Amino acid sequence: MNPRKSALAKIADINPAYGDSKKPYDIDSEYGSDSFGLKTMEDYLSKPIYKRLRDTIKQGVPLDPAVADDVAHAMKIWAMNRGATHYTHWFLPLTGASAEKHDSFLDPSPDGGAITRFSGKNLILGEPDASSFPSGGLRSTFEARGYTAWDPTSPAFINRSGGVATLCIPTMFCSYTGEVLDKKTPLLRSIQVLSNQAKRLLRCFGIESEERAVVTLGAEQEYFLVDKNLYMLRPDLMQTGRTLFGAPPEKHQQLEDHYFGSIKPRIISFMHDVDLELWRIGIPAKTRHNEVAPAQFEIAPVFEELNLAIDHNMMIMEVLRRTADRHGLVCLLHEKPFAGINGSGKHNNWSISVGERNLLNPGNNPHENAIFLTVLCAVIKAVDEHSDLLRSATASAGNDHRLGANEAPPAIISIFLGEQLTDIINQIEAGEAKSSKDCKMLKIGVDTLPNLPADATDRNRTSPFAFTGNKFEFRAAGSSQSCASPNIILNTIVAQAFDEISTKLEKLPKDGFRKGLQNILQDIVKKHKRIIFNGDGYKDDWTKEAARRGLLNLRHTPEALKPFIKKENIAIFERYGVFNSEEMKSRYEVFLEEYIKKIQIEASLTLHIAKTIIMPAAIKHLSNLAAAANGSVSAKFGANSTLVKKGKLVSSLIEKLDSECAKLEDLVSKNADSLEKIDAMNGVRKVVDTLEGEVDDVLWPLPKYSEMLFIY
Ligand code: ADP
Ligand code: MG
Repeated sequence: MNPRKSALAKIADINPAYGDSKKPYDIDSEYGSDSFGLKTMEDYLSKPIYKRLRDTIKQGVPLDPAVADDVAHAMKIWAMNRGATHYTHWFLPLTGASAEKHDSFLDPSPDGGAITRFSGKNLILGEPDASSFPSGGLRSTFEARGYTAWDPTSPAFINRSGGVATLCIPTMFCSYTGEVLDKKTPLLRSIQVLSNQAKRLLRCFGIESEERAVVTLGAEQEYFLVDKNLYMLRPDLMQTGRTLFGAPPEKHQQLEDHYFGSIKPRIISFMHDVDLELWRIGIPAKTRHNEVAPAQFEIAPVFEELNLAIDHNMMIMEVLRRTADRHGLVCLLHEKPFAGINGSGKHNNWSISVGERNLLNPGNNPHENAIFLTVLCAVIKAVDEHSDLLRSATASAGNDHRLGANEAPPAIISIFLGEQLTDIINQIEAGEAKSSKDCKMLKIGVDTLPNLPADATDRNRTSPFAFTGNKFEFRAAGSSQSCASPNIILNTIVAQAFDEISTKLEKLPKDGFRKGLQNILQDIVKKHKRIIFNGDGYKDDWTKEAARRGLLNLRHTPEALKPFIKKENIAIFERYGVFNSEEMKSRYEVFLEEYIKKIQIEASLTLHIAKTIIMPAAIKHLSNLAAAANGSVSAKFGANSTLVKKGKLVSSLIEKLDSECAKLEDLVSKNADSLEKIDAMNGVRKVVDTLEGEVDDVLWPLPKYSEMLFIY
């Protein structure tokens, strides 16, 4: 039987044994039981040690190395009680995935026995060989040593994979000479910078807070699920995460019947297992639902401190993948696994708080509102001045298929504020001049804002950067991406805006503060309001309008990455100590190389599948047609015009396929420009997708869109 047909038969035979929904589940005792968070620490550490560690975690007090031995010992006891035999420093290299190298707790003793050991030094510092991680030329192979350093602000946790428990310790990763080789270190630096500038800004408003300014993130994660039996027959999904071929099915998302639809038993059973596993390691998974495209879903946790939320998102992706495997499914995190239907993003909900005060929450009195409006204007200024950097943070081979396709925000960065907030911004722009039509005039620091609608009413899904009630939602980030890059950039550019605004505010005389602030914000709005766009970002009109406004539209990764190496941009990151110029250049090299390699892999695989899977099926179909045509003549039915017509069509498609493959092959062998290869891949795909509509269904080897998207 055709392997595709037997895979379908196998799926039809799946008889899942679902769990028992009547069994009680004790969230209270299960939540965080595999996380060495504050709650666990309190149980396992002596009071003084616990207090010192808590101060480091909560207040950012530098860590006293003397406590490390005690913490390590407690962590080992706890982890071994939970079944762990090994520990690993868990870090985030530039590959975009997480990395781990396990060491056992075991230490052989001279008498032939063994003891367990895990010292403070083991906890604080690791020395993995760094030679095979991308570094963009920062680390030469003769200086291959890399260091991992404990990040106590992200709790260690037990990772359970394949029934094996491993203690994972979140760490930073740098080279022997101190250059950053990971995503966490610059992230922590950018958080520090923004936090300091936020407190300085508040000081201008007379607010002196003991507490740290905290950057918060809630990352919504979209993903697809396909049955593993079908996945195994798609080398393209297996190797590139997306389908390189596949004609659009008759029914996909036109009826909009999947979004928020009732969740099928096999899927909810998977989602439930995901939630339980995440809760156990202390990840506050909150929402789960069907997304717009068939077979597309979303999970979102409650927002947390940025650094933690990013580690947690990395774990969410891992838990999604391996839980899917347990359920005979495969989780696709690629930005565009299926052409022609929605792709997957990672909505990056971002805000800053100091104590209980969320700086992006419009307040209840004029003073609070003045702070809110200042922060709002700072973000507007930052995003307009550095939209190129924000765009570059979302650039990848996968996201290129999504951004600017008709169901995702375009590659143009703009801000959605909603009608009411835009009106307020317009009033700020009009200032105290009496030019506003309805004479509405907002005086900052005097008037209270009208009640702004909660996020539910202000819905614009087409904007890449939307204000949603008490936070900004950066939607251009791709589903497979680490949130680190977008947030490193967002933090740094907003810190710069805070810095510049504070410098001006600090110079104002006390009695001229309100007027001075009004002028500063008015200037910002005048200069940067071009970035505000509340309309439909998916429409072509917007692309033209944006060009008129002078906004950038960086469509493809190679051009979208360039801002990384612009002199002015490097200067900003150097000024705030987030990256030095070598680190920026190396990141550019790493991301560009990754893009080029991915396209080269896709192009070679396109050829391989076209030549060894599609071509033989088409030839078999042609030979069946030929046999039928000959048979018709020898049986004296006469020459059959339909068979002749079909035969000629399929024969010409086979020739076309061959010539399109030859074009692509030439580009692949020369390792030509990526965009040329993408064009040629599309040429091959077009013929293959046409053949899919002609070749006998029984002979077609690749699972079809209608099967992958609907059979699970
Ligand atoms: P929607 O899909 O309607 O945009 P969700 O509830 O799915 O909303 O996701 C919103 C995300 O924003 C959640 O992760 C939520 O915890 C997060 N969020 C809410 N408030 C803040 C905040 N102050 N800072 C960062 N994230 C926040
Ligand atoms: Mg959202």
